[in-house]
Amino acid sequence: MPEFAQVGDFCPNEMCSDYGKRQSERQKNIVKFGKSKAGHQRYKCNTCGSTFTETKGTIFYRRRTPKDEIIETLAFLAEGSRISSLSRVKGHKEDTILDWLRDAAEHAAVIEEELMAKYQIERGQLDSLWAYVGNKGEKKATRKATKAASSGEPR
Ligand SMILES: [Zn+2]
Repeated sequence: MPEFAQVGDFCPNEMCSDYGKRQSERQKNIVKFGKSKAGHQRYKCNTCGSTFTETKGTIFYRRRTPKDEIIETLAFLAEGSRISSLSRVKGHKEDTILDWLRDAAEHAAVIEEELMAKYQIERGQLDSLWAYVGNKGEKKATRKATKAASSGEPR
């Protein structure tokens, strides 16, 4: 059973010696650290002292490419653009795009919300997006959030 790393499961600070290490019985550098003004859970890494909120720690945090650019590229993919043509138009390597896609699949809930809200991508298109990387996404976690948006989709 694959596990999906959630925000709060690891330190998103690349400079940290515990960067990216999942929390476990022996690895406990992340603690809850109150809430942000917007009401998001905040976390603190006791190893490096950095704090972050639940919106960080997804693929966007450790990528050099701006989040919007990644999301837009994924939106084009979901709409049926081919990776090869996107690579040409956007100027990103095909490998890079595939990499985003693989990462995105691990954070499917966050990405799906964003794609549906900003680019009116539909459930069926998301499924074909995840099919690229053989991952159907985090279905359980997204059902609740996507029910309204996917009501027009036969299931
Ligand atoms: Zn850290």
